[in-house]
Amino acid sequence: MNNLKLVSKSLPEHNSLVQLSETVTFGGQEITIIGGPCTVESLEQMETVASKLQAAPVQAIRGGVYKPRTSPYSFQGLGEAGLEIFATIKQRYNLPVVTEVMAIAQIESIAASADMLQVGSRNMQNFDLLKALGETDKPILLKRGLAATIEEFVNAAEYILSHGNSQVVLCERGIRSFDNYTRNVLDLGAVAALKQITHLPVIVDPSHAAGKRELIAPLAKAAIACGADGLIIECHPEPEKSVSDARQALSLEAMIRLVHSLQPIAAAVGRTVALPTRELAVA
Ligand code: PEP
Ligand code: MN
Repeated sequence: MNNLKLVSKSLPEHNSLVQLSETVTFGGQEITIIGGPCTVESLEQMETVASKLQAAPVQAIRGGVYKPRTSPYSFQGLGEAGLEIFATIKQRYNLPVVTEVMAIAQIESIAASADMLQVGSRNMQNFDLLKALGETDKPILLKRGLAATIEEFVNAAEYILSHGNSQVVLCERGIRSFDNYTRNVLDLGAVAALKQITHLPVIVDPSHAAGKRELIAPLAKAAIACGADGLIIECHPEPEKSVSDARQALSLEAMIRLVHSLQPIAAAVGRTVALPTRELAVA
């Protein structure tokens, strides 16, 4: 790996922490889980997601308000109205918010209502966006480009760090291949490699990798087993009615079951998963 100055690991035990809120960190002993719908659809939807997932528990909530859609005729996201929904959710629930930023012009308003700015796969090499995010003080979730090499991926992170922001979490979300049975191919080799090459936390998105809800739990377990620091998973109160990525959306109940099923895998690799709150444990 040429020309990496800031993202490289100096020693095997060199692992950076990225702080999402006072209590939520990526890269520590505890696995960090982000859950929520592909797209923010309504306040009611996000209230249901937040209240259920808070008890699961997940550590952060996700949802796109600016959506990178393949077709210009597909729903493009609620935009500013979606950010207002997040502002309300943040006030009512103790959950940090993760949402995608597609353009430099969106940074300021998104940063006012979200705790972590996601760079989507399609923007991984939007170098001007990376530079601008490097000038913010917000944690960045950098997703791997759908056909990006590991070298291109870590160089994209280097752009953000070299512009002043060291709070970067890498996300493997699957890469394009010849087989369309799964939406993408989850590259777990990249997860292991990234943990060796860089000191940055690495999380896995099994939802966009699999594209099919029935494959998400096994891939999530495999990700934790091979050293991922966390997961980002799509789920929805009524998965079939999701305005985008319905086929890969888990129900909230399946999401909660998945979080609990990670416990023994995490323990086997010396990690922990937060325990459910008491009400849920009793229910
Ligand atoms: C998303 O997280 O909703 C998304 C669009 O992901 P990706 O950029 O990995 O396709
Ligand atoms: Mn999606």
